[in-house]
Amino acid sequence: MDTIVDRTQETETDWGSEVAEERYLMPSWSGGFFSVGQNGHVIVTPTPGVDQHIDLRHVVERLEREQDATFPIVIRFQDILASRVRQLNEAFADARELAEYGNRYNGVYPIKVNQLHEVVEELLEAGKPYGLGLECGSKAELVAAVAHLDDDERLLICNGYKDESMLRLILSMQSLGKNVIPVVEKYGEFEMLFSLGEELAVKPKFGLRVRLATSGSGKWADSGGDVAKFGVSIADLMRIVDLLQERGMDDSFRLLHFHLGSQITDIQVLKSAVREISHIYARLYKLGIPISHLDVGGGLGVNYSANFSYSDQAINYSLQEYANAVVYSIKEVCDIADVPHPIIVSESGRALTAHHSVLVVDVQGAYRKDEIEPDFKVAESDHHVVRGLYNTWKWVSEEGTSEFPELLEAYHDTVEKRAQADAEFSLGYLSLQQKALAERLFWSVCQKINEKVYATDTDQLPAELDLLDDLLIDQYLCNFSIFQSILDYWAIGQRFPIMPIDRLDEEPTRRAVLVDLTCDSDGKVNRFISGDPEKDFLEVHALRAGEQYYLGFFLMGAYQDIMGDTHNLFGRVPEVHVYADSEEEDGYYIEKLIPGATVEEMLATVQYFPNDLHRRMNEMIRQKTQAGELRPKVGIGILDQYKKMFSDITYYRNRRG
Ligand SMILES: *Cc1c(COP(=O)(O)O)cnc(C)c1O
Repeated sequence: MDTIVDRTQETETDWGSEVAEERYLMPSWSGGFFSVGQNGHVIVTPTPGVDQHIDLRHVVERLEREQDATFPIVIRFQDILASRVRQLNEAFADARELAEYGNRYNGVYPIKVNQLHEVVEELLEAGKPYGLGLECGSKAELVAAVAHLDDDERLLICNGYKDESMLRLILSMQSLGKNVIPVVEKYGEFEMLFSLGEELAVKPKFGLRVRLATSGSGKWADSGGDVAKFGVSIADLMRIVDLLQERGMDDSFRLLHFHLGSQITDIQVLKSAVREISHIYARLYKLGIPISHLDVGGGLGVNYSANFSYSDQAINYSLQEYANAVVYSIKEVCDIADVPHPIIVSESGRALTAHHSVLVVDVQGAYRKDEIEPDFKVAESDHHVVRGLYNTWKWVSEEGTSEFPELLEAYHDTVEKRAQADAEFSLGYLSLQQKALAERLFWSVCQKINEKVYATDTDQLPAELDLLDDLLIDQYLCNFSIFQSILDYWAIGQRFPIMPIDRLDEEPTRRAVLVDLTCDSDGKVNRFISGDPEKDFLEVHALRAGEQYYLGFFLMGAYQDIMGDTHNLFGRVPEVHVYADSEEEDGYYIEKLIPGATVEEMLATVQYFPNDLHRRMNEMIRQKTQAGELRPKVGIGILDQYKKMFSDITYYRNRRG
């Protein structure tokens, strides 16, 4: 039975690409980058407004055909990164123009969001006209970032705790004439920076993260406010100012910074924090500290779903509103205090990278409740419980039975008979074959009842019948690991847009939860973006024999890549970089395939090495051949087979025909 109508959606009569886009809520999350084509494929438009489109299904086909790619795979659309850089900078340019703001905007990219070298390089390249800089938060990130300060103006903001070696490197970069600003997080860091400055005879430039009274909103609310892990108090700030003035080093203090945490959900909270820091800036300026930069941190949100009011993940503003809020709030405070407008810095990471990558996962199989063939007939010899279930099935299948009392009665009846079948089986009165038959009849009855419940179109459902729906949802086995590829889904309940990447010219008729390859019962996706917070299934198509079915996981470009965990030793997934190019066949070219982690690499992370494992295996086989239980040739064959596995990928390898 493939015809299940989704209770949460209206019944669509004219299925088409627009209806498909609505079904998967694309208008709310796609940012104009993704749509459904007339051919039922997901189409990527890397530069909204430019008539250049890439067929995602074709990319996957070409990867399989020409590049011998394995799945799951991350597909990066590098042009989307460039588009996001442009959109962010244009939003600030528009806001500044409208507000008649008297200074520049200087974005920096926090590399912790996605450190992949190609991603950082693409962003820097696209950001050149806008002076996009970088932000780092650890020693390794600092080492990576400093080498990319090709231009002396390129700003590098160093957040996070810094040890002596990091501060020394930062000061060396400053003495090279590079625009590197360490952001002091604690009073002790300030002391260390200044004594190192004296030792090296460098007059340090630095910024300061202030602990604001305003605390964030959404999941990362604790990143700001009194309980925050980072930031100096106003009392420490004054101590630092006094020290600077004593030494005549007022102009060392260049930047004020706050960060409310990622994915700010409420624009009012942002405005209030910006006003608070602007007041601090104005006061310090009047005290004679000529701070040049005001850094409003990250937190610019991405719409992973629509703005549903129930959701703590929805953001209530657009990119333009964010830029306006920052620019106007700073300007208002500065104008009233009669101080110059500072350079505005923002550290948007998620907003720059989220859209550019798509994880494509192949479905390995569909598990659904096993039903009986429609033309099934019981035999005289069948057990009386089986015959009873059969009668219930026949009864609910009749035209007339569609009232709730009847359906409920049929349901109770079938549950009772199934329990009876279990009891008879454990007493030895029911064969395995008869028990299998009873199971299938039970699910057929449930399926029939559920279809009739849908047809009645009411929300006054008896609870038991409502729950029935959940029992009948399919499980689609997907070739990936949640812990490696969408860690935030597991860790913080982040929902991502997920949808088929083809066959969208056909209405999806199955409802499924997605299960991954790990042996973890948490390795399951059963919460999806939706207007209904209770929705626990994804609309999918029935699988076709001999045909691959792919799901796309969208907006994967921020945080997921790097936070992935190697649960069950599933490793890094392969990835490719796709560039739009009108000169090329199909309008794009694939630049690079970075292979995923091999079995050998994953084993090495937990200290298993080929030499030792091969030796053990060899010994095992030698014993068997010596004992005459195994022909040497067969033994060598098994050993070869084992050795070959070391270079294999950690996921399912799919090779049809
Ligand atoms: C993580 C982080 C960011 C990035 O935040 P997004 O919400 O991804 O833009 C910016 N600044 C600091 C200090 C951070 O820790």
